[in-house]
Amino acid sequence: MRDAKELLETIHIDVEELTESLRFEYQHSTNFAMNPNAFSRTNDTGEWLMSCCPNHAESTASFGISKDPPYHCNCFFCGYLGTVDKIIEIGLGLDDGEGIKLLLSTFVIEENRAPIDIEAIIANGREPLRIPNLDEAILESFRNSRDSDTWTHDVAMAYLLRERGLSLNTISTYEIGVDTVNNCIVFPQRTRTGDLRFLQKRRVGSNYSGAKFINDGSPIKKDILFGLHHINKLRSSPHRIRKVRIVESPIDAMSNYQVGIAAVALNGRILFRNQLQALQLAGIESVDLMLDNDKAGREGQKEALYWLDKAGFIVNEVVYPNPLCKDSNDLLRAGLLDKCPIVSANLLRGLSY
Ligand SMILES: [Zn+2]
Repeated sequence: MRDAKELLETIHIDVEELTESLRFEYQHSTNFAMNPNAFSRTNDTGEWLMSCCPNHAESTASFGISKDPPYHCNCFFCGYLGTVDKIIEIGLGLDDGEGIKLLLSTFVIEENRAPIDIEAIIANGREPLRIPNLDEAILESFRNSRDSDTWTHDVAMAYLLRERGLSLNTISTYEIGVDTVNNCIVFPQRTRTGDLRFLQKRRVGSNYSGAKFINDGSPIKKDILFGLHHINKLRSSPHRIRKVRIVESPIDAMSNYQVGIAAVALNGRILFRNQLQALQLAGIESVDLMLDNDKAGREGQKEALYWLDKAGFIVNEVVYPNPLCKDSNDLLRAGLLDKCPIVSANLLRGLSY
C-alpha cells in the first residue's frame, strides 16, 4: 500500500481550484469563526499559491501550497510545514486519513506517471483510502416510513406522483423513500459501482425554514452521478448502454427513465472531472446534454460540452421543444420529453464559438 505522500508524487492537482474549494467549504465549517480569512486573499507567486493560513487568524497571505508534486504546504508566519492532504483535514475538520480521500476523489486532474487507479483505491477498501459508505438499512427505514407516519409519507409521495408525474415503478426503481421526521423525500446517491455514498433529502412543500436540500453522509460527491449505477450494471451484458442523457436533478433523470431514455443527473449544473471519469468507466461513449432551460443551465451546459468533447465523447444537445419548459420533468408532464430534437454539439459549436 502506497502512502499519501507517494500518491501525491504521481498526481496532478489544480492548486488554484483546490484553494478556491477549500475557501468555500471552510466558510461552512465549524472552524470558520476562528479564522474567517482562511484560504482567501490568494496570491500566485508562480511556484506557490499563497493564501491566509488555516492554522490561525490573519489578514495577509502567509500560507503557501506548492503548485508542484508532492504539494508541500508551509506558512512563514507560524512556521507550519505539512502536506496538502493534512491541510484539507485541518481546514475542514476531517478525521485523520480523510484528507487524501477527498483530494483523490475530487481534485485530481490527471496522473503524471504510472497510472494509479483512484477508483480501485477508493472502492476496494485498501485502508486508509476507503470512503465510508452509508448502511443500506437506512434506506429500508425510509421506504417503510409509512408505517410510522402515514400522513407525512403520503403527502410526500403525492408530490412525486401528482405534481411531478412520476410513476410508482419509477419511484421504486430509484429507491426513493420518505424521511417523515424531517418531512423530506430521500434520493439515495450511489457510486458508479452501487455503494451508497450519501442521501439527498428534499424538503416537501414550501412551508419550511432553512435549506431546500439537506445531505446526509460523506461530503465526497464529485464522482457521483445519480442513476449511473443502473447503467454501469449493464456494462458487460448484451444490453450495454453506450449513450446517456445528462440532466441536472434526480427527478429529471427519473423523468427520462420513465419515457425509456437512459439518463444520469449531475446533482447540479457543474460536470466535475471525476464524474467524467465515472462516465468513461461505465462504458458511456456518447452523451446528450440536457441541463435546465435557463441561464445557469445553459452556462453549465457550455462548460460540460467543452470537457466532454475534450475527453473524447460524442456530444449532442437536446433542444427544448417548448421554451416554457425549464427541465426534463416539465417536458414529461407536457408529454414532450421523448419528442425533443437532438442536435450535434459539434455543429452548434461551429456556429456559436
Ligand atoms: Zn500559519
